Amino acid sequence: MGLCAIPECYRSRRTMYDVAAAQRGRAFFIFWGTKAVRRRLGYLADYCPLCGELRCFKLKRVGMAGHIYGIALGEGQLVGHVMTCEACDVDLNGQPERYREIAPKKLPLPELAARTNPEWQRVHTARLAVEKQISSAFGKLSAQVRQALLEEPFALLAPKVEARFSVSQFDGPTALALVGMFVVGFVATAISEKLPESVGGYVALAGWIAGLGLVAWQLLEIKHRYFRDKIFPTLVPALRRLKPSAAEIEAVLKTMKSRGEKIGSKLDPKRLLEALQAPAQIAAAR
Ligand SMILES: [Zn+2]
Repeated sequence: MGLCAIPECYRSRRTMYDVAAAQRGRAFFIFWGTKAVRRRLGYLADYCPLCGELRCFKLKRVGMAGHIYGIALGEGQLVGHVMTCEACDVDLNGQPERYREIAPKKLPLPELAARTNPEWQRVHTARLAVEKQISSAFGKLSAQVRQALLEEPFALLAPKVEARFSVSQFDGPTALALVGMFVVGFVATAISEKLPESVGGYVALAGWIAGLGLVAWQLLEIKHRYFRDKIFPTLVPALRRLKPSAAEIEAVLKTMKSRGEKIGSKLDPKRLLEALQAPAQIAAAR
């Protein structure tokens, strides 16, 4: 995996959530099989690498359980734990053994930290020093650290993107577009029957082509909509404190792609740059 320049390297924080297993579960969804079952264990406080601050996390146990018609039989065999930042929604590798206790209820952050993770500042000393340099006008990060910091949010969000694009990309608006295609097609066909034969055929054909175009356009839009709604609200604030250039974003995406991460090939750098330049909209969306 190579050397990681960031103290408390993100590779160990990346969620262990087994995408392949979850996908296998969905493939057999209709009758029986296995599916990922997440069970909430409680709350804990820890440093969030994407927020750059102490945050409240929700901890969940992930198990692969057998199911019949989608109803899980128990909590299943343990796959790992996932902890989700309450502020930025990133999923991290949950390691319950790292915490003094897991709070059953949400508490004010200082109280939660005192109970679950009183040593957090000592544990993350090196990373907090890097964080100070990012926010300082005189802070100087080495090229290697900057590179690692730029890669970090992409690498931490990659499992989410992987899970999303490993299953069917069908969503509500696409279903509507499909209905739209048939409506446009049938209306055009109905009209064409009232027209002279020489023109009628063309009208029907044009109707069906327009309908197909509608579906194709929706399929393309799904991808952009997913990134805009689910990934950018987390990714954009994390990147904004580093003020990356267009070239840096392109380079990180290329690196992700070379590692076989879907986030590298699915994410449109132009749209990400647009989102980075529009602070108010993203803030309002959250
Ligand atoms: Zn966070």
